[in-house]
Amino acid sequence: MNKPAAPRGARFPASLDPSATGSRPAPTLRPQRPLHEAARDASRQTAPRGLGLDSAPVRLRMIERLRADGVCCEPVLQAMAQVLRHEFVDSALAAQAYEDTSLPIGLSQTISKPSVVARMVEWLYLGEIQRARGHLGRVLEIGTGCGYQAAVLAHLATSVISVERLKPLHELAARHLGRLQVPRCRLVYADGMRGHPPNAPYDSIIAAAGGDDLPQSWLDQLAVGGRLVAPALAPDGRGQVLVIVDKLPGGLRRTLGEAVQFVPLKSGTF
Ligand code: SAH
Repeated sequence: MNKPAAPRGARFPASLDPSATGSRPAPTLRPQRPLHEAARDASRQTAPRGLGLDSAPVRLRMIERLRADGVCCEPVLQAMAQVLRHEFVDSALAAQAYEDTSLPIGLSQTISKPSVVARMVEWLYLGEIQRARGHLGRVLEIGTGCGYQAAVLAHLATSVISVERLKPLHELAARHLGRLQVPRCRLVYADGMRGHPPNAPYDSIIAAAGGDDLPQSWLDQLAVGGRLVAPALAPDGRGQVLVIVDKLPGGLRRTLGEAVQFVPLKSGTF
């Protein structure tokens, strides 16, 4: 009887080839690799994480863009080069984490654009005592959000107190900062319009939400020689701008910076 012909072009392994003569013993079919081989291969692989966003070059591209945009304070750029921004946003948005864009973090709030974080922290760092000491000292941040800016500040400060009025965001930031083991940072669930009196005075105060004017409590809690950077309405009708306040021994000195658009500073907790 004729052997059935293999279809034209089809290739079978020798053991399965219906045209094979059968003189060789068929090898055992193994649906799985032997355990020791699987374990060896697994130990060579690193688990895929963050869509390749964990790699330093991705962050360094963002830093180069900030530099090209005029951010020139090296310690600030170095701090931002170290913080994994994609770990602070929803995984569906992680691919956009190193673009210069704000992204939703829930409850109608956003993580600030990297260029805005860079400019504000740079303003802080260029304060007189900050520059002289080479760090931001004791920092108060209003508006923790997802915790990204707090993590950047932690690289440049001796301590960071960050206040958030929305409990789910306060908890989200605690998870992010805990997972990444960010040091020197304490999160407080409270209305930041009152600042945080227990740890005052602060060398540096920074706010990520803007009202019409700066709350008096922030000015009161700023140390003499300290600097505050926050969005507020410009008195000349330009809309919201960055306001830089230096507390000098003789009084407050206000400087107006660039136009910005922050989420509103609201009172009370939620
Ligand atoms: N720092 C964040 C930005 C968060 S957006 C970042 O890294 O990108 C601003 C945050 O300010 C929001 O989470 C908002 O809830 C918070 N906020 C607004 N008013 C506040 C207040 N009075 N006290 C504390 N947080 C406030």
